[in-house]
Amino acid sequence: MKPEDKIKVHILGSCSGTEPYEGRHHTSVALETEKGLYWLDAGECCSYTAYLMGLDLLKTKGIFISHCHMDHVGGLGKLLWDIRKLTVVESRKLLADNLPVYVPYEESYQAVMQLLAHTEDDFKCPYTHEGRGVQDGILYAGGDDEDGITVEAVHNHHLKHEEGTPWRSFSFRIRMLGKTIFYSGDTEREDLEHTVPDDCDLLMIETGHHQIEQICNCLKAYGKKPKQLLFIHHGVKILNNPNWAEEEVKRQWGTGGMISHDRMTLTV
Ligand SMILES: [Zn+2]
Repeated sequence: MKPEDKIKVHILGSCSGTEPYEGRHHTSVALETEKGLYWLDAGECCSYTAYLMGLDLLKTKGIFISHCHMDHVGGLGKLLWDIRKLTVVESRKLLADNLPVYVPYEESYQAVMQLLAHTEDDFKCPYTHEGRGVQDGILYAGGDDEDGITVEAVHNHHLKHEEGTPWRSFSFRIRMLGKTIFYSGDTEREDLEHTVPDDCDLLMIETGHHQIEQICNCLKAYGKKPKQLLFIHHGVKILNNPNWAEEEVKRQWGTGGMISHDRMTLTV
């Protein structure tokens, strides 16, 4: 495999919606290839962390928000602001002419854009932003120049849903370079049966609402066999006991099980 055929998975924030926690930030993951950068949720400080890790924010091709809770959108405004800022201070262009931002509530997207509208230079950008909703199915499909990426949304029951109204909470299935990556967002365990693909190179599953053991048992019961299983979006039990969590994931899952931390990068 050539290095350009790899996907880097950067954990920019590994924490659930806790109060401020030293060394941890709210949830955000960036997927990086030679040709693009794709954001899964945008918790506080995600662009700050990414920039300091050496990621090129101007490679951004799409931003995908699983649901509109603060621990998933708190850094969205700053992410968009930082992208524009880099085009100004580095006199470089964003790789895309149009930046799609997928947000389950249009009002939340509009609110972020309104906030930005009164920042410096009225937030005029040499590219356009496009707020897009999130619904079940393929949200985004890049061509060959984007490694054939597809991002598919599949609803989950993290947020209450009433018959006949839009779903507001999603998990994402990402396929590119012959690989499949799953990102749970926040989810109910029962959702994993229909949301998680049977064959998967990397599963990222939240532990903010679950125990490691419960998730492992669930995945086994549903016959899911990911090559790598990465726990994200930790609650205080894992945050307060990271060494225990590392041992627990090995006990419950064995090889391929991992606990994420901020600024961690793995390759798929
Ligand atoms: Zn959350």
